[in-house]
Amino acid sequence: MSKNIVVLPGDGIGTEIIEQAVRVLDVVNEQHNLNISTQTFAFGGASYDLSGEPLTEETLSACRAADAILLGSIGGPKYDKAPRDKRPERGLLRLRSELELFSNLRPAMLFPELADASSLKPELVAGLDMMILRELTGGIYFGGPRGIETRDGQQVGFNTMVYGEDEIRRIAQSGFEIAMQRNKRLCSVDKANVLEVSELWREVVIDVSKDYPDVELSHMYVDNAAMQLVREPKQFDVIVTSNLFGDILSDAAAMLTGSIGMLPSASLDANGKGMYEPVHGSAPDIAGTGKANPLATILSLSMLLRYTLNEASAADQIDNAVAAVIKNGIRCADIAGSGANETVVNTAQMGDAVVAQLQGT
Ligand code: NAD
Repeated sequence: MSKNIVVLPGDGIGTEIIEQAVRVLDVVNEQHNLNISTQTFAFGGASYDLSGEPLTEETLSACRAADAILLGSIGGPKYDKAPRDKRPERGLLRLRSELELFSNLRPAMLFPELADASSLKPELVAGLDMMILRELTGGIYFGGPRGIETRDGQQVGFNTMVYGEDEIRRIAQSGFEIAMQRNKRLCSVDKANVLEVSELWREVVIDVSKDYPDVELSHMYVDNAAMQLVREPKQFDVIVTSNLFGDILSDAAAMLTGSIGMLPSASLDANGKGMYEPVHGSAPDIAGTGKANPLATILSLSMLLRYTLNEASAADQIDNAVAAVIKNGIRCADIAGSGANETVVNTAQMGDAVVAQLQGT
């Protein structure tokens, strides 16, 4: 059956990095007979420039119809003065909410050769490969009541951390599914010693675990999880957690790797359909200079193949090609160290290196 990927290059370095990811897709598409077709649409600032809207109805309906979406990055100073509801970021938030992408996957992985880029000791992070699953559309960021009001003569600010059983169930299922595709260990992070919402969270996660007997489930309080992430991050395989806790833990985990140009991400709906994008933004400071590292986007493509299209062997091939390129000392400027055997390359040359590796040339 043929599959359709909508490609949204976006703004700034988005167009440059997506170009390399599409080259990689073309190679594995042919090698693995994946029967994937792509359609490209302007999105974010590029779409605003063309039509006055960061997300047009045409693009939205193409994204709805697609099997998956591959996004570069959006935004830039040019759009700071655009009306608030026309800014690129608004298009992205709307796309995420229209497609009900409630499950945010952020892997933190560190190729052994890049361990020096981390702020932790190399031996603690070399070979790190973990995944944080953050609930993206519920919890305290969306819960009510919320506000600031005057009580007894003084101002009081308040928010509500609220999760329904169904919301917990679907993110837990997502967590177990991801764990099944990895090393089958899932750590649910909560604050069940203090928060009732976390008590329910834990109860529902345990209930869902009955459907996944092969996955080893553990629980950890969020304060301990923060500590363990910087103490011994390699103990984790998959972490599943709520919106607020995931926001904080995933940024901390990202920084363990030290190189933003290497980090992919995904946001999935209840059926595993997803939008895949690098963690970084449109990097206006280096757009057009050839310095953008396309590997985060190429690794996002690999996640797309693994988690939405279930094409694990094509995904493995991409991951292995990237690992080999890094091992061979090929570096974009953001991950270049002082290694004597390093070759510093530009965006297109990094694409060339991955493609050559895939083709065995
Ligand atoms: P950024 O991630 O774009 O850049 C931060 C720093 O990292 C910059 O120095 C940049 O040069 C560097 N960098 C980022 N990606 C890189 C890559 N692939 N290779 C090499 N270096 C890289 O964050 P910012 O500067 O805070 O934001 C710039 C714009 O991007 C803003 O308009 C922001 O709103 C937008 N943004 C978009 C997304 C998204 O598309 N999902 C995410 C974050 C920020």
